[in-house]
Amino acid sequence: MLNIRFFSEAKKPRILCLGAHADDIEIGCGGTILRLIREVPEAKFYWVVLSGAEERAKEARQSAQVFLRDAGSKVINVQNSKESYFPFFGAEIKDFFEKLGKELSPDLVFTHYRNDAHQDHRLLSALTWNTFRDHFILEYEIPKYDGDIGNPNMYVYLDETDVQRKIKFICDVFQSQNEKQWFTEDTFRSILRIRGVESNSPSRYAEAFYCRKMVF
Ligand SMILES: [Zn+2]
Repeated sequence: MLNIRFFSEAKKPRILCLGAHADDIEIGCGGTILRLIREVPEAKFYWVVLSGAEERAKEARQSAQVFLRDAGSKVINVQNSKESYFPFFGAEIKDFFEKLGKELSPDLVFTHYRNDAHQDHRLLSALTWNTFRDHFILEYEIPKYDGDIGNPNMYVYLDETDVQRKIKFICDVFQSQNEKQWFTEDTFRSILRIRGVESNSPSRYAEAFYCRKMVF
């Protein structure tokens, strides 16, 4: 397997993290972000959450601060699009992306998987590709009731410390989600373990992504 380094040329890589809902970025790529902060301390993070009303918005901001605590540079932006209704407000969200695309030229973009079963996630993924089509995009996965887990093609090893930190941060901050049957430590650890098996991770854990296009 090829073991590559992110950002071989970028001096201060700009990393854009996009999430439809308050906890998506953390669940999808929180461990990779923790690893990147440690290994690429000069990176600048742009953390954008498209929806969040009151408590969810507060949790989203708090969580971004926790995950990006050691990042050298960060911008956190929480919008208030109505959760579960994204396709019906597509023009507004598209306008937001148009603006974002003019302001930013990221070296790496994290977004939702294009075949995610949640309509908000799919729209965000499509708009990410509309706006940042010639950028390096990695699509992350979110376990859910609908059962849309697929076959990713890129893996990031996570050590046990980052696994523990990721899970603890998510469960500590997103108290509003604790009643949901799937929002548990074992869900978050299980998916990392399965991806660790698939990638033969020395630590046993990995986050997995879909990479449509990569240029060397
Ligand atoms: Zn979501």
